[in-house]
Amino acid sequence: MNLLKITQTFKTQDDALAYLTQARWPDGVRCLACNNDKVYRITTKGKTKKIARLFECAECGLHFSATTGTLFHDSHLPLQKWFMAMALMCEAKKGISANQVARHIGVQYKTAWHLCHRIRRAMEEKTICPLGNEGQVVEIDEVYLGGRIRRKGVKAGRDNKVPVLGLAERYGRIHLEVIDKARAAFIKPVLDNHLSPNVTQIVTDAASVYTHLLPKEKHLEVIHRDELETKGWTSSQTVEGVFSLFKRGLIGSYHRLSKDHLNNYLQEFCYRYNRRGQQKEMFAGLLGDMTHRPPLAYKKLTREF
Ligand SMILES: [Zn+2]
Repeated sequence: MNLLKITQTFKTQDDALAYLTQARWPDGVRCLACNNDKVYRITTKGKTKKIARLFECAECGLHFSATTGTLFHDSHLPLQKWFMAMALMCEAKKGISANQVARHIGVQYKTAWHLCHRIRRAMEEKTICPLGNEGQVVEIDEVYLGGRIRRKGVKAGRDNKVPVLGLAERYGRIHLEVIDKARAAFIKPVLDNHLSPNVTQIVTDAASVYTHLLPKEKHLEVIHRDELETKGWTSSQTVEGVFSLFKRGLIGSYHRLSKDHLNNYLQEFCYRYNRRGQQKEMFAGLLGDMTHRPPLAYKKLTREF
């Protein structure tokens, strides 16, 4: 769903609320405390004198709304604006900055920053699906990201760079993750979780770290210099392409990307990349993910690091 469709479909807050309710409880609303399916719809006026549409449980009397206990929890922003921000983040192949979102939907930067982080939280994969089924080739490589310090040049920032491990199925899904150091001890847990034992071939460069981590019969080590002389650099072009797409987004959209949040941005990038063939369904899927994640308060977000 693109921005235009969002504004056409959800003309009022109630339209958006109905859509959200349906996404959260496709089989009918259930009480959040006792799971009872007999609930009444009630309307109240809160402290702000705004009309609030709530549910009341016929069994335990609990009052709750469609957004209670979700990533939308406690937000004063109209749902249409939330939906617009979600659509923007689904569409932006290389990512979109909070500043841009703020301009598009007409809110303050700080509001947009918190909003984007909550949407990003929903984009973290809940279940791990290891990469590389039978017959597939997975490319693995590392890249160093960020680290530029203002007015101090590239050299000063080198120590600040963060290593990121990338796994990419050829013509398939990807996984990117921040690691402490590009050493076996930090790479191994990522491979254990995200690389399927059924994979047919694994391609890496000649970094010795992979020699002991990967099964010999499946591991193809490529020396780029030799490869360039014969047929061009093709062996790891998927993972390299993914890295360069993320880097372009880093420079083009985010400008200053906090090192602490880098992994969240990587997960957002993977979420979108892994659904690139399902653009139409992405918004509905994301909405479902938003309702199945607990709230994320601004204070928690800034205190997490
Ligand atoms: Zn109840």
